[in-house]
Amino acid sequence: MSDYHPFTPDQAAHFADLHSDLFGDHSQLTAQEFGDGNLNLVFRVKNNRSTSLIVKQALPYARCVGESWPLTLDRARIEAQVLRQHAKLCPDHVVEVYHFDQSLAAILMEDLHQYEIARSALIQGKRFPLLGQHIGHYLAQVLFHTSDFVLTGPVKKAQQLQFNNPELCLITEDLFFTDPYSNHERNTISPAILPQAQQLWLDTELQAEVAQLKADFLSKPQALLHGDMHSGSIFVKADSSKVIDAEFGFFGPIGFDCGSFIGNLLLCALAQPGLCQDPATALDRQSYLQGQIVLFWTTFSDEFSHLMQQETADISFQNKLFQQRFLTQIWQDSLGYAGCELIRRTVGLAHVADLEKIADQSQKTKAETAALTLGRQLIMQRSSLSLTQLIELI
Ligand code: ADP
Ligand code: MG
Repeated sequence: MSDYHPFTPDQAAHFADLHSDLFGDHSQLTAQEFGDGNLNLVFRVKNNRSTSLIVKQALPYARCVGESWPLTLDRARIEAQVLRQHAKLCPDHVVEVYHFDQSLAAILMEDLHQYEIARSALIQGKRFPLLGQHIGHYLAQVLFHTSDFVLTGPVKKAQQLQFNNPELCLITEDLFFTDPYSNHERNTISPAILPQAQQLWLDTELQAEVAQLKADFLSKPQALLHGDMHSGSIFVKADSSKVIDAEFGFFGPIGFDCGSFIGNLLLCALAQPGLCQDPATALDRQSYLQGQIVLFWTTFSDEFSHLMQQETADISFQNKLFQQRFLTQIWQDSLGYAGCELIRRTVGLAHVADLEKIADQSQKTKAETAALTLGRQLIMQRSSLSLTQLIELI
């Protein structure tokens, strides 16, 4: 990594120009760093005809904390390679990577400026009727085609080595599964819900279930996950959705990606009474989000079942009963991971704007309490809850 240096805007523009033909010979390029993400530099490079590209570069530390939190530059390679592999399997729903430079830890990619980040749009009450369908289709395709249903043992094991991502996985292991269940200094807890947070630290039955979900995260390499499937990793517009930011990708439990997506729609739904003044509007938005959860799971499960029936290469895995049990297990894991997402986004290090944007303190306390309660229910009841019962719980 001897060539590595963090880009200035001019260097990012030069990098983009060098590795793309899109700008043309006499372009005047301007570049601006505008990333609002937690970990990396993100530059927009534009020419004088409004053609633009994105340069994303990893820093040798976590941007949100600073140099005291060193972090591997290899995450840029993981991100570029996961995005490229997923794009091959589902080109409609993945941002296009044009170039990757390993020594600079820099990715040149498509600028999705005509889209908006799903989290911000959903908070504003905007609706994307196909969001759940798009993400259900994306996850079914990429997770099925990187699983044992398709890959032979040796090929999958080689890919597991390629996507070995210990440092970023450790962040998830800590922030998702460990910190919220103890009085950890990284936690951020609103004073009003401190008693409920303290309950989590004493709740050994809940902790046993979370330990099981964590053990599965560590030891169930079912498919090549995106690894960070929250609503801030999805760009949306009316008729299209595209996933970005796959630096947490690794071979893990399929339900982790599904549960992260469901969990973030649930957080947005629980925040609605605090986000809009009018109770009828809040209810209406909640039912839209519930509808998207249903659309997501029905799309994902129908398509995953169909793929298992039609495209399973391994003869053992062609067994119908096994396939039904496999899908049921994905659902139960998804509920568990969605529950963990609700809890860690409420009391852990990384909070979400959905809850943070609630101005009224008592409304915020209500939403946070609801997130902890629903999170616990999903984790504890994941082996018996149906999709209909999940929707009724919200
Ligand atoms: P991090 O890994 O640091 O979290 P992200 O990949 O989430 O970085 O990107 C941070 C922000 O940069 C996004 O929220 C978005 O505003 C912007 N961004 C990232 N990729 C693109 C892209 N391909 N097109 C347009 N904007 C982008
Ligand atoms: Mg990000």
